[in-house]
Amino acid sequence: MSSVLEVANLRVGFSNGTLAVRGVSLKVERGETHCLVGESGFGKSVSALALMNLLARGATRSADVLRFQDFDLAKMSERHMAQLRGDKLAMIFQEPMTSLNPAYTIGSQMAEVLRRHRKVSRAQALERAAGLLSRVGITAPGMRLAQYPHQLSGGLRQRVMIAMALMCDPELLIADEPTTALDVTVQAQILRLLQTLQRELGLALLLITHDLGIVARMAQRVSVMYAGEVVESATAEALFANPTHPYTRGLLDCIPIPGKSRRDAPLGSIPGVVPRIRPGFTGCGFRDRCAHAMPECAQAVPRQSAGGDHDYLCRLPPGWSRAQAA
Ligand code: SF4
Repeated sequence: MSSVLEVANLRVGFSNGTLAVRGVSLKVERGETHCLVGESGFGKSVSALALMNLLARGATRSADVLRFQDFDLAKMSERHMAQLRGDKLAMIFQEPMTSLNPAYTIGSQMAEVLRRHRKVSRAQALERAAGLLSRVGITAPGMRLAQYPHQLSGGLRQRVMIAMALMCDPELLIADEPTTALDVTVQAQILRLLQTLQRELGLALLLITHDLGIVARMAQRVSVMYAGEVVESATAEALFANPTHPYTRGLLDCIPIPGKSRRDAPLGSIPGVVPRIRPGFTGCGFRDRCAHAMPECAQAVPRQSAGGDHDYLCRLPPGWSRAQAA
């Protein structure tokens, strides 16, 4: 598989001195769902916004590699980025109401996306919009095109956002907590839809979530983020079979995951609070909460292989958790 997106050592800082993203590296392959998982505030969304060059004013971004297809995003001008966004590189957000303009109809907004990037008439753009609304399971698309966002339910709005993101046939879709604002039944429908589209269109999907149940259901590959770093990265199968970073293990112990958790296992918790990472911080960001912390954890932490392309950022040796369980 060829990677559609490659990121190496992405760093993002804010003007208040906080380091939100500290050396994130990941690849997303064509036709793959790569989940970026972790608690809120750990740099998942900021990483995505950094890829799209949509960071807040005053934020700084650097990376050794920031490549989408053959484009070097790190060197790209804002004018070129604006041409790429919504075209081959699309993103959907948690709350569609913040992305949809309440003053324009769904049809106008969808047509505008295509006409910004392709030389097509308004009628042709509306025809494609109607086709995509049907594709994402919206009935009576002609009527929906004439409606305003407030006339649709949350689930329909998210379907519209997905259809809008597909207007220009993107290669990579970044979905930032796309189901968090929806009720459970609609969540399941939207996830199923994303899965189907991803499979049928061969999309690369970077799915940001705090929900390991969604990861278990959707991901081929997983990157676990803690305090701005990817602390563990593996195929979904390897991660659930052999979670190796203590934070990943803690996360898995906290949440019952259908088909993955033991029915009689008590739920755990991760004690302590998340550190505020400032420039000059060294050592493991998890050490104040880690039951296995040792004095050396205050120094630079090695990235180690747990086998194959499963790696983790920790001083504990590979296989430590299995040895402990034995
Ligand atoms: Fe725990 Fe040390 Fe590993 Fe950090 S490096 S997760 S503190 S054992």
